[in-house]
Amino acid sequence: SLTIGIVGLPNVGKSTLFNALTKNDVLAANYPFATIEPNVGVVGLPDPRLDKLAEIHSSQKIVPAAVSFVDIAGLVRGASKGQGRGNAFLANIREAAAICQVVRAFSDPNVVHVDGKVSPRDDIETINTELILADLQTLEKAVPRLQKEAKLRKERAAVAAAATAAAELLNGGTTLYAGAKDAGIEVELLRELTLLTTKPFLYVFNVDEAELGDPAFLDELRALVAPAEAIFLDAKVESELIDLPEDEARELLESIGQPEPGLHQLIRVGFRTLGLQTYLTAGPKEARAWTIPIGATAPEAAGVIHSDFQRGFIKAEIVAYDDLVAAGSMSAAKAAGKVRMEGKDYVMKDGDVVEFRFNV
Ligand code: GDP
Repeated sequence: SLTIGIVGLPNVGKSTLFNALTKNDVLAANYPFATIEPNVGVVGLPDPRLDKLAEIHSSQKIVPAAVSFVDIAGLVRGASKGQGRGNAFLANIREAAAICQVVRAFSDPNVVHVDGKVSPRDDIETINTELILADLQTLEKAVPRLQKEAKLRKERAAVAAAATAAAELLNGGTTLYAGAKDAGIEVELLRELTLLTTKPFLYVFNVDEAELGDPAFLDELRALVAPAEAIFLDAKVESELIDLPEDEARELLESIGQPEPGLHQLIRVGFRTLGLQTYLTAGPKEARAWTIPIGATAPEAAGVIHSDFQRGFIKAEIVAYDDLVAAGSMSAAKAAGKVRMEGKDYVMKDGDVVEFRFNV
């Protein structure tokens, strides 16, 4: 499954955040999680729509979509040259589908910063530099080989040219995720090289509680990483929230002016960054969210439940979540003409509530 790799310099709050993430059952006892390996956490995608669907259908249980995070330690300054854990982290990052950097913005003088000062801009650059250097090493080996191949096989010329252009961009200090498009580089051509900086990035700024209420400060941080998405949270508060009963957790959130835990935002933004969305099913047994790539068709969506559903697909009975809730029940939605029959070319929308018709 698709995984989000969490990276960051030492002492920025990665472990605090990751531990809170994998205990993520605050405000939502319904969101189960499982830990496969110590550094991998599978967490439920918070989705209040499932609670509502379960209510409408008297469902016995709720099954949210899952998002996996992997805590990748060892990415420090000089890592690409073998410092720290050396290149061990590279394999971990290569396997991740997106990269989430935790950036320290909190100022606690009791927590040592590896570079002696708190500077989100410098920390982001340090991590980017290591990833860029790792990609440049890959390209240094690949480009001469690709150029040889291009002489023998015409179709390899485009790959060789893309690799050369990528090296040029990286040498200028820009990641492929941030700059490939503007430089006219087709990253699809580079897929075989599994370059690290082609992966989508997102950023978690670990801020002080007081900073959460300072929009101007948050905007400054956001500007450092745009157009990548930024999430702001206080990892210490997040780890406290986890251990509080629901009503107290809600009170704490209110006291710091937050509508929901930062972790929920992180999970949602992470999910979206992976290019994923959900559709919903509901019945007496369960209300459930199913994960599909953005752009998936109805038969592809059916295939996520069971391959037989895709093979024998006839049509999908679909109602938009908002229409169903407005109507109050499936039969009322039908009576109001809100339930559509869609065929095999239908492109799924997030929040479609679906029942598939298929031949067995
Ligand atoms: P890691 O090395 O990035 O995994 O960082 P840790 O999660 O181990 O955190 C390093 C230290 O910073 C620990 O003492 C944490 O308690 C502390 N810490 C983490 N997040 C915060 C925060 O948001 N505010 C403050 N003041 N301290 C934090």
